[in-house]
Parts: sequence; structure tokens; C-alpha cells
Amino acid sequence: MIVQVIVDIPAAQVNRTFDYQVPAKWQSIIQLGIRVQVPFGRRQLLGFVVGMDDTTLFSGELKEITGVLDYVSFLNPELIELSEYLAGNLHAFRISVLQAMLPNMLKVKYENIFIINDLQKFQTMTLEFAEQLMYGPEIEFQKLTLEAILPGQLIKEMIQAEVIELEYRVLNQTTHKKIPYLKPLLNFEDMQAIVEKQGKRSPKQVQLLTYYLANYPLMWEEAPLNEVAKRSGVSTATIKSVIDKGWFERQERQVYRDPLANQERHSTTARALLPEQAIAFNAVKDAITAERNETFLLEGVTGSGKTEVYLQLMAHARQRGEAAILLVPEISLTPQMVARVTERFSTGVAVLHSGLSTSEKYDEWRRIIKGEATIVVGARSSVFAPLDKLGLIIIDEEHETTYKQADNPRYHARDVALWRCQYHQCPLVLGSATPSLETRSRAEVGRYTLLKMEARVNQAPLPPVEIIDMTQMAVRETSNEFSPLLKEKIRDRLEKKEQIVLLLNRRGYASYLLCRECGYVLECPRCDISLTYHKHDHKMKCHYCDFQQNIPRNCPQCQSTHLRTFGLGTQKVAETLEELYPDARVIRMDNDTTRRKGQHEKLLKQFAEEKADILLGTQMIAKGLDFEKVTLVGVINADTSLNLPDFRAGEKTFQLLTQVAGRTGRGRFAGEVLIQTYNPEHYVMQFAKQHDYEKFFYYEMKRRHIGNYPPYFYTTLISVSSKNLANAQEKIYEIKANIYNQQSSNSDLLILGPSKGPVARINEYYHFQLMLKYKNKKLVQSQLNEILTASQQDLQQGLRVSIDHEPLYFI
Ligand code: ADP
Ligand code: ZN
Ligand code: ZN
Repeated sequence: MIVQVIVDIPAAQVNRTFDYQVPAKWQSIIQLGIRVQVPFGRRQLLGFVVGMDDTTLFSGELKEITGVLDYVSFLNPELIELSEYLAGNLHAFRISVLQAMLPNMLKVKYENIFIINDLQKFQTMTLEFAEQLMYGPEIEFQKLTLEAILPGQLIKEMIQAEVIELEYRVLNQTTHKKIPYLKPLLNFEDMQAIVEKQGKRSPKQVQLLTYYLANYPLMWEEAPLNEVAKRSGVSTATIKSVIDKGWFERQERQVYRDPLANQERHSTTARALLPEQAIAFNAVKDAITAERNETFLLEGVTGSGKTEVYLQLMAHARQRGEAAILLVPEISLTPQMVARVTERFSTGVAVLHSGLSTSEKYDEWRRIIKGEATIVVGARSSVFAPLDKLGLIIIDEEHETTYKQADNPRYHARDVALWRCQYHQCPLVLGSATPSLETRSRAEVGRYTLLKMEARVNQAPLPPVEIIDMTQMAVRETSNEFSPLLKEKIRDRLEKKEQIVLLLNRRGYASYLLCRECGYVLECPRCDISLTYHKHDHKMKCHYCDFQQNIPRNCPQCQSTHLRTFGLGTQKVAETLEELYPDARVIRMDNDTTRRKGQHEKLLKQFAEEKADILLGTQMIAKGLDFEKVTLVGVINADTSLNLPDFRAGEKTFQLLTQVAGRTGRGRFAGEVLIQTYNPEHYVMQFAKQHDYEKFFYYEMKRRHIGNYPPYFYTTLISVSSKNLANAQEKIYEIKANIYNQQSSNSDLLILGPSKGPVARINEYYHFQLMLKYKNKKLVQSQLNEILTASQQDLQQGLRVSIDHEPLYFI
């Protein structure tokens, strides 16, 4: 038997399969997707089996694999095929893609170890470091440990003299959670006899045995040890003593950790669908039934009942014995969505989210592999869930940027979903109130089927939106966070005992430290960007690297003490609210108040239970929340995100405003939205006021057409970064010249730049970038491949080169 293996080194030279023989003893356990250890040059590497065959095209003598790591594969043939497609499409190494598909738990790790071959020689050669080395019976050292103590030259000499040898040892981290169980080895009569014989001696042991006798025969199956201790009222020491006596046996049992264990569950049943919901549902249902690969855009206004449609579609797939994936932008931000799924389906749901520990995630993954969970809810990476019979994938809030991975491999979950649905011949549903332009334009030309839901479930109109011109305000008012109108409306709702949501738009916004004497702004020493003031721990922090410092007393430039923080944080706004409305109960939700696990859910629960009047927060409050009592939404600063160096700035701002406006008027009470802005005439404000996504879409499409931007052009961002400014610059010009030389006369390829990144230096790395815009993917394919191939060598010269297709982040 011969296996094709992708080895675990992200480099161009090994970005292909290598053939290995499988020794007889392992032939029966080899499967596609499992990890094996293979000899590679002088090393032992880890690799994935991506193919199996009886023959090889390799003419030399094949080496044998030297180890098998898995008995269960986490990658099925489909995912292996997908990895090949993605690697080619993203210009990423196949190994990186395979790694991205796996739960973190299985991400391979090596231990690099120096083994000592000749202890005597080793001791002589390292005599002067004897104290630090402290060698006892050890015959090996961690690579880093030895390197920290001995000079590189000496290590080299010892390797050459074969005194020591470097070994790459694969660490297999998989640990299944195990808990101890207790099983009696005595039968009822024996146990009874002991109790009688012991009399007053060892009362605790007797107490335990009596408990067992009282529960005969129930307890004769093994039971969790801690549980037994608790119920019988004895200590674990007592249990240990009866195990030592040979009366009981201790066993380890594997358990799945249930991440939903601590949540209350009510069950819900399907609701009768409203007309628009029914049309949408039936269209997708037909595609599921007919096993037809069709992509639907479900464009439904906020509160139109998209989730109910998702739930019923998943139920339909499950009835047919098929699995479904529901992707959400970020699980911790959408607790209500997750709750609705788990309430509807009491069993067989796997929830994969970042709040889970690595091993909890791993457990969920194993339930999927075993077919125990056929509905998977999760963020981006859940799109790789190894389900064998997929009947449906749904992507909720499909316009969210979190669906695109920001670092290598830079895949978009939507593209992966498109591929998988085609593979499984099943439908894909993209849901949003404000679809991305890319998606909406595909629906426009008929590549996706457009399903619209224009009415809210409660039959109420969308809430009226008022745009407040803040340019009029700033001069008159001292505190310019709240316009008089917003203040008045807040007071009104407080009096009526209704609830209020206030959004502080933090995108593109930060508080900085400014010297009022000389105008100096405190910057990060490693990045070309100002430091952000963090009030809760009173520190200045860099949002790009992790640099932080205390607030200086004096201006570093002119020594003046007149330093002041500028900008608006949620904490500052919360303080103003407290001054204005001393009796109002305010919940503040931002990165600082939700850092701890579960805190997000807790705050929302408080708000839902009407333990607060005002929910003040950043972007994280804009999505998916459904509170009936909210009758006022206020946006404190709508514009900050409009001025970002990003051609999608308008689209992102429109989406945010529409999302947050949708948080009101959802129940029996009418709602109202106030948007404060310094750009009241801006088209984004105007379309948001009208809740008119469609008009916004056509307008924005025109702008993209004029500017040659997506969806009219494909875009690829090539970036080069290095600690050496000149090298980075030279490299980016070289890349441009290469592309230009081959394509100069082609008007379907536009090259923008090179330019400095919007932040020219991040964490001591200088950034340059080049934007390619093109109409035909073939135009740049070969050049991008060359760049990828060269990237390993570039790295050795301290140059990081990356390729980002359809970039969503521009830093
Ligand atoms: P969206 O996701 O489109 O913003 P939701 O799915 O949150 O909308 O639905 C809004 C509200 O309407 C929810 O409280 C939901 O339970 C309720 N709802 C949805 N569909 C129906 C229906 N067919 N009948 C009654 N209530 C419904
Ligand atoms: Zn100064
Ligand atoms: Zn920094």
C-alpha cells in the first residue's frame, strides 16, 4: 500500500504530495485524512494522508511511514479535495489549508529535542557550562534550553562530531477528558458480610458499603466517583481505601463536555409561517428535496423572521437524514440565535464557538465525526465541519467581515460554502437585511435566487429615522455628545419606563492623548499610529501591537503638563448619561466590560429582564438582539467609520446603521431612531433614513463602477513587510515591475501603488502594498504563483510577502 502525504512545512518546495510505503502492520488503520509520521531528509515530519494507491510514479525506492497518529480521521475525502481547491484559489500552501480545517486540538506541534549520543564527550566539551546545564541522568535537552545556554558555534561543532543530534519529536496533544468511575468488585452477599464483620470499625467504609447495599442493584454498574462520594457522604480518601482493599475498581471513562450544560432550555415548536416566510421556505425546501445546488439570497428586513425560516429549513433537512450548517458572524455576539436553535432541536446540535475551550471544541468535533450531531452552529471555521451528508448550509448576516479569515489561509466562508454545497448538491442560503454588494449583484444577474421579505413579523412599519445635524450643535453646547433632541427623547422613554439602545460607533475611532501646548500626539514607538487611551486601567495602548504605557506627566516634546485625552469612549458617554439622568440604570457593553467569558450573555440577560433602562455599547450591540421594550435607538456618532481608507466605508456604515436601527419597534411598541452625524447630507445617512437598502445598492454600485472596484473588478492585495524599510520598498517595486512587464498593455488589469500601508509601520515592521484590480483571474494567476513560490526565500531575508484575495481589511 502506498500513501500520498502532504508534509507539515509551509514551503513551496514541499507544496505537493510525497509517496510513502505503508508497513503491513499499519495497512488496516490507514485512512484518508489521518496524520502520519514520515522520514523526510534527515528529519521525521508529520503529514496528512491525502491519497492512497497501489502504485507510484516515483522511480526511486519509497521510504516507509514511521508512525500513525490518528485512528479516526477528522478530514473526509470531500475536505481533502476542498483543500486542494482552496490552496490553488487562495495562493496558500495546502498544508496551511489542511491545518485551518482541523480543530485546534489537532494542530500539530513538535518538540525539538537534542539527544546526547555520547555523554562523556558532551560533558568534556561543555565543561565550562556545567553549572547551568546541571546534567544528571539526562540524555536529552529541549532545543531552546540548550540554545539558551551554549554558544551556537559549540552546538554546531557537537552536531558535526555527532556528540548530539537534533530530533523533531511529534507531540500528540489529544487528550480526551476523562473522569474517574467507581465499580464494585464484590457481589451483594460479600458486601453484606463485610458490613456485618466490620461492626464499629472503619465507620466510613461501612457507610459507603451500606449506601451500595441500599441501592442494589442500581449501583452495580460503574458510577462517577465524585458523585458516589457526594451521595454516600464519604470522602474520596475513603473511596481510595476501599479501592486499595480490592473491593472496588477505579476506571477512567471518557466523557463529552457539554458546552450547553449550564443553560436553561425551553423547547419551541415550528410557528405557522407568514406569507413571505412561506414563499422563501418553500423555495429552499424544494431545492433540498430535489437535491439541487442553488444559492439563495434571503434579503429580509430586520425583524422579518429570517431565523424562523432557517430553523424550519434545518428541520426539513434533518427529516431527510441530512445535516445542516448554520454560520453566524460571531457566536458570543449572537446568544439569542444560538438559544433559538438549541431550543428548537433538543438533541444532535453541535455549537462551535470561540468561547469554548480547545478541548470542548474538540469534543463537539468528535460528535460531528461520529454522526451524533447533524446540526452545526458556529462561526467561520465551522464551515469545515466534517459532515458526510450535507443537506443545507445557511450563512446568517452574510455581509459580515468576520466570515473572511484575516490571516493565512485567507479564505472566505462564503466561498467554501459555495464549493461544499456544489459537492453535496444542496442549497446555500445567504441571509441578510443588508447583503454585501458582491452577493446582491450576483442575485441581480441571476446567479443567485433572490428571496425578499419586506414586512416585519409584527406587521409594524420599520421605525422612523431622524438625522440630526451635529455641525449646528458643536458651537453652542459644551458637552457635544448628545443633541437636545436625543436628550429629550431619552428622558421621555425613561419616564414611560421603556428601553433605549445607544450605539457609539467605534470603528475608525479612538481617544488619543494630545499636548495642548505644542500639539504633540502620543504615538506607539513601534507603529506609526497614535496610542489609544484606556480609561479602566488608565493606560495608553496600541491597537496594532500590544504595546502599552502609563500616561506621561509631561509632554515628551515640550515638557508641558497640559496633556489631555481627546475622543469619546463608552465610559465617558456613560458618565455623561449619569450626570444627565442620575436615576437611569445603564448597562455598558464594550470590549472592556465583556472581556470575561459569559459576561456578554449576562449583560444582555439583565437588559432582557428589564433590570436596566439604557443599553450603551459599541458595534457589538447592533446585531441580532430582539427586545420588545426597546422603543428608542440613538446613534451617537454615525460618521467616524465613513472616513476610513477603505472603498467599503460607505457600505459598512450603512450596514451598521441599518442593523442598529432594526433593534427597535420589534414588538408591540412602536420604535424610533435618531442618528447624530456631522455629514447629514451624505448618501449613506439619507438611505439609512429611508431604510432603503435597494436604493443604496444601486447608488453604491454606480460608485464602484466608476472607481473600478468590486464587484466589477476582482481585487488582490499584495503586501510586503520588513523591519528594514529599504528592503521592503525594493521588494514591492520588484513585484510590481514583474507584473507590469508581462501585462503592461492589458486594460483589464489595473495596478494601484505601491503605497505605504494605512499604518506605515506596525510592530516595527514597515508595510507596503500593491492593489491589483482585474477582470479575468487568469491574468494574474502565474505571477501570483511565482510570488507564493518565492515567499519562503523572501522570508529568510526578513521579508514577509502575503497575497490577499478580495481583501476586507486594509491595515
Ligand atoms: P430577523 O432575524 O429577520 O431580524 P427574527 O427571526 O429575529 O427576525 O424574528 C423576529 C421576531 O418574530 C422573533 O421574536 C421571532 O420569534 C418572531 N417570529 C418569527 N416568525 C414568526 C412567525 N411565523 N409567527 C410568529 N412570530 C414569529
Ligand atoms: Zn507638548
Ligand atoms: Zn504598536
